Amino acid sequence: MSPIKLAIVGVGKIVRDQHLPAIAGNGNFELIATASRHGTVDGVPAYSSIEAMLEAVPAIDAVSLCMPPQYRYDAARKALDAGKHVFLEKPPGATLSEVQDLIRLADSKGLSLFASWHSRYAPAVEATRAFLAGAAIRSVEIIWKEDVRHWHPNQEWIWQAGGLGVFDPGINALSIMTHILPNPVFLTGAELTFPENRDAPIAASLAFRDQAGLAVNAEFDWRQTGKQTWDIRAETDKGLMVLESGGSKLTIDGREQLNAADDEYPSLYRRFAEIISAGRSDTDLAPLTHVADAFMLGKRRVTEAFHD
Ligand code: NAP
Repeated sequence: MSPIKLAIVGVGKIVRDQHLPAIAGNGNFELIATASRHGTVDGVPAYSSIEAMLEAVPAIDAVSLCMPPQYRYDAARKALDAGKHVFLEKPPGATLSEVQDLIRLADSKGLSLFASWHSRYAPAVEATRAFLAGAAIRSVEIIWKEDVRHWHPNQEWIWQAGGLGVFDPGINALSIMTHILPNPVFLTGAELTFPENRDAPIAASLAFRDQAGLAVNAEFDWRQTGKQTWDIRAETDKGLMVLESGGSKLTIDGREQLNAADDEYPSLYRRFAEIISAGRSDTDLAPLTHVADAFMLGKRRVTEAFHD
């Protein structure tokens, strides 16, 4: 098979950190163009808008949309209308209904749409899912606490409506949760904490349960300095399971089961090639649904103003 001719839209932090090395390491893809108002990639023809790029480079087969979520829908619609397969960075959009619209459009055109959830491809996630499938789970606790000033310096979009605030990292935890738990959960209560000068939350407490009454609690906080925490813990009949470091390391009763190097974005591009070749889409909206529920059901607390 000749490589899929790929374009990237929105050349920023995640493109430089992850997409470019993952694409360079995957022979199924050839990066042939970018569209970004400022960002460029050395040696790759650059355009300042997706419209200009699609018109100038008809050979493009697929596009990766890596801009903030509030701007993803319009770009996705243009790419699908032009007959291109589409990779959506997480979260796949700013609303559920706009992503559902994209799913319908991709289906109607026979194109592949990929709502990517990179944390699901963290190295210890599949082993955790297998462990939980064979255990009786008594309770689950998710702790996702990081320092926003370190990870998102000067990113204004993240604090604006649709930017998701602390759910930008928190949705990574929810993408793992929805993959590893044997049964679906639903939100029963939430409290969201908003800085008085921002439209997106800096912290969130979430309570979920499943049909059998299993309690799952999650704490997201962007005010963590020092050690960062991205852990999921489950009390089970087979011991205390801890999935640590964003899904890299699994321990049971303190004994290490797996601790491997990050392979998330290479895995995402292998998956994208696979669904294009199979002529299908991969668009699970469960993580975004839980975030939408949190905004719908959550109590709102206001806290001190946040300044970078
Ligand atoms: P970013 O660097 O702030 O934004 C990416 C690029 O999008 C920017 O460089 C900018 O390029 C373009 N952009 C910004 N505002 C725009 C607007 N109003 N309209 C159109 N384009 C705009 O953000 P990022 O950290 O790469 O994150 C982008 C997406 O990847 C987010 O959905 C995020 O959740 C996801 N993600 C990020 C990380 C991470 O560690 N940063 C990890 C995983 C996933 P131009 O100015 O050149 O147009």
